[in-house]
Amino acid sequence: ERARDILETVKERDETRLGVEAMELLDAYGIETPTGDIVDDPADALEVAENIDGDVVMKIVSPDILHKSDIGGVKVGVENEDVYDAYEDLITRAKNYQPDANILGVQVQEMVNLDDGVETIVGMNRDPQFGPLMMFGLGGIFVEILEDTTFRVAPVSEAEAEDMTKEIDAAPMLRGARGNDPVDIGGITETIQRLSQLVTDFPAILELDINPLVALPDGVKAVDVRLTVD
Ligand code: ADP
Ligand code: MG
Repeated sequence: ERARDILETVKERDETRLGVEAMELLDAYGIETPTGDIVDDPADALEVAENIDGDVVMKIVSPDILHKSDIGGVKVGVENEDVYDAYEDLITRAKNYQPDANILGVQVQEMVNLDDGVETIVGMNRDPQFGPLMMFGLGGIFVEILEDTTFRVAPVSEAEAEDMTKEIDAAPMLRGARGNDPVDIGGITETIQRLSQLVTDFPAILELDINPLVALPDGVKAVDVRLTVD
């Protein structure tokens, strides 16, 4: 129900690429996202930051900026006293990148401890031949350079989702390589299934990527999501 409302809103606004609403969609399907909010002035940004334990991450929110870090649009480890400056700087960078960019605001997020985690990617693309193809791999060079990915047609069963987490070359990284704790592989499996359910329920979703889904020893968190709707 909530998911339907969110997609309707997006359609009415005639915005086909959504980032922020995508987080709410994930939430509606029980996929955990970092705490936080989207704000459009620095005082509100500070208020959100003050309600989050520890440092925060701040990101530009604009349908015109798809790869936020490419333009310096992601600030990790921001202390409360730096929130105002960070806010202004993010807006400035976005405007420098594209003067007429539609800037919706700034997302202030809980910072996820990447030292304990592994960045993974869970995605979906509609293939003209096979239909909705679910993809899984590890973030960074693993997917982008090594193309160490695996695919299944949605809807995927639990066994299929489990296989996906096992059959990539980098799978040992999930089981705790080099003295690290193993991450929550069950949480990844569940996320793949939930996402598969979401794209099965909504054929209007053409493309969807959680990048990264940070897998931690005690859970998973969808830190960034991008989707395209019909
Ligand atoms: P984009 O992909 O548009 O550049 P992301 O939101 O994925 O933006 O942020 C880029 C990178 O910053 C992530 O891959 C991750 O390494 C780091 N990052 C983003 N959000 C967080 C967060 N909440 N906690 C920790 N690291 C984060
Ligand atoms: Mg990303």
